[in-house]
Amino acid sequence: MNLYRIVYASTLSESFNSQDIEHILASSRRNNKKQDVSGMLLFSHRYFLQCLEGSRDNINQTYQRILSDERHCRVTIVSYENVTQREFCAWSMGYVPESHLTRELLFKFSASATFDPYTLSNVSALALLKSLHGTVI
Ligand code: FAD
Repeated sequence: MNLYRIVYASTLSESFNSQDIEHILASSRRNNKKQDVSGMLLFSHRYFLQCLEGSRDNINQTYQRILSDERHCRVTIVSYENVTQREFCAWSMGYVPESHLTRELLFKFSASATFDPYTLSNVSALALLKSLHGTVI
């Protein structure tokens, strides 16, 4: 079965509250595990950057649910590709909170040290997520 990876960026909606992140992680981990989907979610400065890996059908179904979620908006695909291996196979949904994202790391992968996932190239977005492997909770 072909393996696919999608990376997308989104923005918190007005209705988002502090407990929502725990609910999102719980649903993600439960649903993704059932569907053999792995990935990572980075949250900082009101933005999300998320990667999902798995079969094309499972990735597409998951992304469609995510698209209609009112807890975030401006959901924008950064990359969608057929890949030979998973980069985040250790996590049904690894999470990297704001506090783990340093200015040095952002400066390394972006044009400025401020996190704005909409300005990242597909290559930089994936490189940034991979560089955070050691800080996933
Ligand atoms: P449940 O887990 O049973 O829903 C739990 C609770 O979450 C509900 O009671 C409700 O309070 C709340 N909720 C559920 N859906 C919505 C909604 N659309 N709008 C507002 N509140 C809602 N899901 C995944 O399966 N995998 C992922 O990797 C994933 N990543 C996400 C990343 C982000 C940034 C966001 C915002 C959401 C993500 N989700 C993910 C959640 C997804 O959008 C759906 O909410 C979820 O898949 C629904 O799962 P469920 O049917 O099991 O609902």
